[in-house]
Amino acid sequence: MKAIAILGATGSIGKSVLDVIHKNPDCFEPVLFSAHTDGEALLRLGKKYPNARLALAGNVENAPKAIHYMGREGLLRAIEACAQSGCGLAVNGIAGAAGLEPSLAAIDAGMDLALANKETIVMAGEVTFRKAREKNIAIIPVDSEHSAVFQLLRAHAGGAERLDSIILTASGGPFRALSSEQLARVTPKDALAHPTWKMGAKITVDSASMANKGLEVIEAVKLFAVPPDKVKVIVHPQSVVHSMIRFSDGSMYAQLSKPDMRRPIQDALFFPNKSAVSFDSLDLTSLTLEFEAPDEKKFPLLPLAYRVAEARALYPVAYNAANEEAASLFLEERIGFLDIARIVEAVLQRDWTGIVTVDAVWEADKKARSCVYGLKNLLHAS
Ligand code: NDP
Ligand code: MG
Repeated sequence: MKAIAILGATGSIGKSVLDVIHKNPDCFEPVLFSAHTDGEALLRLGKKYPNARLALAGNVENAPKAIHYMGREGLLRAIEACAQSGCGLAVNGIAGAAGLEPSLAAIDAGMDLALANKETIVMAGEVTFRKAREKNIAIIPVDSEHSAVFQLLRAHAGGAERLDSIILTASGGPFRALSSEQLARVTPKDALAHPTWKMGAKITVDSASMANKGLEVIEAVKLFAVPPDKVKVIVHPQSVVHSMIRFSDGSMYAQLSKPDMRRPIQDALFFPNKSAVSFDSLDLTSLTLEFEAPDEKKFPLLPLAYRVAEARALYPVAYNAANEEAASLFLEERIGFLDIARIVEAVLQRDWTGIVTVDAVWEADKKARSCVYGLKNLLHAS
């Protein structure tokens, strides 16, 4: 039995983690569930797994009494307590920048980290990997593209040395075929109708704007220690090929499966072993797989991410924070869809040089968010 701490247990990733655990009842035992505001969902999980700790990071005033750990600090204490009682793996499915502190707390406590929260790597990959090396713990990517690359590299002896490039696939989101004029008029409801993946609201908006792929390019650069020009993006609307690697001899390898996050989650939970539990296999005869170049003019957050990945320092923090604020302004219908990229681009005009330390990351995060609200003319443009 492997004990597992599930951070962000009430979200889309968290639910898929629980599903994998239900499918493998003799292999895994959840020992911590965390949520932000959904105390009721947390209590339901607690009823099902009475030995698990429950932590509610926000909405503390209205929290049900049976919850053991409250607030941000409470969540960090719960992570520490789990590690002390022998839990060796945390899965982080918290949405956004709020996932960074719990990731670092899990590493500090000596737990391996199955990481769906890409913001941890985008914002502070340098610190995260340094700490992980010091503690000799594994960081296992859960993001489907990075999981695919991770597994492909593991499957090929000496893969990392022979690697020429990484090809991340992108579904292209719901707006792939729209013109710029049409994009100016799309609503949050349109953006939330993703053609292939069912995910939380913020990442779904990011998929529509391609900020998600931008974040994933930065994630790949830091995770696999490759320069940005070695990370390519190709649009693949069927989301069946989850990513590819190309070796220096020109040969390419791909990982194919149905678009279902339980697949990479299961790989991460069983790491370093492999699971024998089978998923529905693909019927290749019923599929047509298409690939096309991304339209960088219509989706400027993608080329912007390459500039950010090249500049490094605190630019990724600013990209992520500005995009997080802009995506939520779009969801609140306070700005138009095209304003998301305009806002991020304007914030990135500032100086984001500096050494990546945890304090500098939080300072830049705060500064970038307040920059967004300083862009008054942009916010009132639509
Ligand atoms: P959801 O919005 O569905 O879930 C987010 C989870 O995090 C919920 O449990 C939520 O609690 C909790 N949470 C939200 N804000 C905070 C906070 N400030 N402090 C602590 N906990 C918080 O998101 P997803 O599951 O879609 O995404 C989670 C992460 O995984 C993101 O980083 C995303 O980019 C990444 N990811 C997701 C994929 C997917 O298929 N969904 C695919 C690849 C990566 P509550 O329910 O109480 O609000
Ligand atoms: Mg992904």
